[in-house]
Amino acid sequence: MANFTTHIAVGTVVSGALATLTLAADVIAPENLIAVTMAGVLGSVLPDIDLKDSRPSKAMFSGLGIFFSFAVLFSFATKFSIAELWILWLGTLVLFRYGLHTAFHHLAIHRGIWHSILAAVFSAGATAVVFYYVLGRHEGVAWLAGAFLFLGFITHLILDELYSVDVMDTRVKASFGTALKLFDRRYPYASLGMLAATVAVLSITPPTKTFTVGLSSRNLWAGLNERLLPQDKWFGILDRNSGLAKVGTTAAPSSVTTGSIPENGSKAPAAPATAP
Ligand SMILES: [Zn+2]
Repeated sequence: MANFTTHIAVGTVVSGALATLTLAADVIAPENLIAVTMAGVLGSVLPDIDLKDSRPSKAMFSGLGIFFSFAVLFSFATKFSIAELWILWLGTLVLFRYGLHTAFHHLAIHRGIWHSILAAVFSAGATAVVFYYVLGRHEGVAWLAGAFLFLGFITHLILDELYSVDVMDTRVKASFGTALKLFDRRYPYASLGMLAATVAVLSITPPTKTFTVGLSSRNLWAGLNERLLPQDKWFGILDRNSGLAKVGTTAAPSSVTTGSIPENGSKAPAAPATAP
């Protein structure tokens, strides 16, 4: 299996690429995009939550503790005194980091039910529920966060599966086939429990309409396709066809100006255009 550092690195790259698309599609506000991207990164380490006393597991429960303690803090900020807020904040943090961490490891088996597509569906639904009810975000944002987490989660499972045929160890490891699976046959009760939890979570998730309509809109994909490559020059400097466009030497076809270089500011066409 891939280690924590690899999972974080790949998860961050995948989430970053998705975040870029989301930003270009201009569907949600930037402050929501950060939270949604973090959900993707969380998803990329979540399947290893059942590694007992491992770094990812500790880090994850710490992360969840910080996340929920601040969520609690913000939702009660106007209702309680500072002293009460301190107690609430610290209490939530300790509950997640130590209480839930300990309780969880009495129940879970590594590479068990958490390394499954079923757990990915459950976690995505739970993310949408948390974003909608706890954080009070729009249903479209909530489902986008769920989708990011799901893709991060699946990325982790695929990566683990790829690493189990790692040539470094010159053999196909015994773990082959255990990372990417629909559910866990070895532990029928754990699988049934996860199935029940998934059904329960999906029954209270926010409406999916905004998300599915947005995702299937033709404008979205046409817009993304249009924005995929630069219209003229890469970063406004590099010519699409002939590499670096030297300022001055090949200035003859100056009918197209990007406006990024102040040298030609005198004939900037933007100024008269804005003032009718
Ligand atoms: Zn794993």
